[in-house]
Amino acid sequence: MYNMDLTEDQIERYSRQIVLKEVGGIGQKKLLNSKVSLIGLGALGSSTAYYLVAAGIGSLRIIDFDLVEISNLHRQILHFTKDINKIKTKSAAEKLNALNPDCNIEIINDRISSKNSKEFLKGSDFVIEGSDNLPTKMLINDTCISLKIPFTIAGVLRFHGQIMTVVPENKTACYRCVFGDRTEGDSSMSCSQAGVIGFVPGVLGCLEANEALKYILNVGELLTNKILYVDLLRYSFDFIEVHRDTNCLACGDQAKDLVESLNYGGLDACNDQ
Ligand SMILES: [Zn+2]
Repeated sequence: MYNMDLTEDQIERYSRQIVLKEVGGIGQKKLLNSKVSLIGLGALGSSTAYYLVAAGIGSLRIIDFDLVEISNLHRQILHFTKDINKIKTKSAAEKLNALNPDCNIEIINDRISSKNSKEFLKGSDFVIEGSDNLPTKMLINDTCISLKIPFTIAGVLRFHGQIMTVVPENKTACYRCVFGDRTEGDSSMSCSQAGVIGFVPGVLGCLEANEALKYILNVGELLTNKILYVDLLRYSFDFIEVHRDTNCLACGDQAKDLVESLNYGGLDACNDQ
């Protein structure tokens, strides 16, 4: 736990955000005391991790199992050309440790599954989902609801993306409320088939970091009970209102813990947006 006063270096490092009334010294200490978990060190995870670590999040747990490939580099800006074939968690930790020694980078170099998701995510103040496949998104949704941890989920394709935040304690609409009970591999196209421009996950990853920061500081409005749909070709930012489904298997009135009972098929799909 970080209970000390801010050091002179920290006051200088974070001065441009400490000056904001929404942050201040107290908010900065809250950030330095907070623990965020991030699933996926792809393109979404790259911008999320850089900005959270730069902002002085105290602890960032990064979860991925993949190796860096050359086709990742146009969008996954945590990884450099010299990192090809390196384990993504190692590549990411090198950059993030170099960026800000205040942040403790905790590495989990493993594929998240229903067998380990509770273990991996417990103790987090906030969870950020940055994978590229529906089964992982559903698993994170169900695990966080079970553990009552707030989280944000984003997805990107081509020139557009979407993001929503769920606060289980406030019974806001969850990902399963909106996208149904599919856990098997999604029939829709992935980025490798349909393509994606790197800036889109860059923007959406920043929005995910912003959600974590706002939740920790308890400022502003979160993207709860709504989806923000971003289209960078048209420059449109549209909000779609969504509602909690009282029959939802994950968060409904009769909901049971799904993580141990459901089969999250397709979790061997690539895990990096
Ligand atoms: Zn739900």
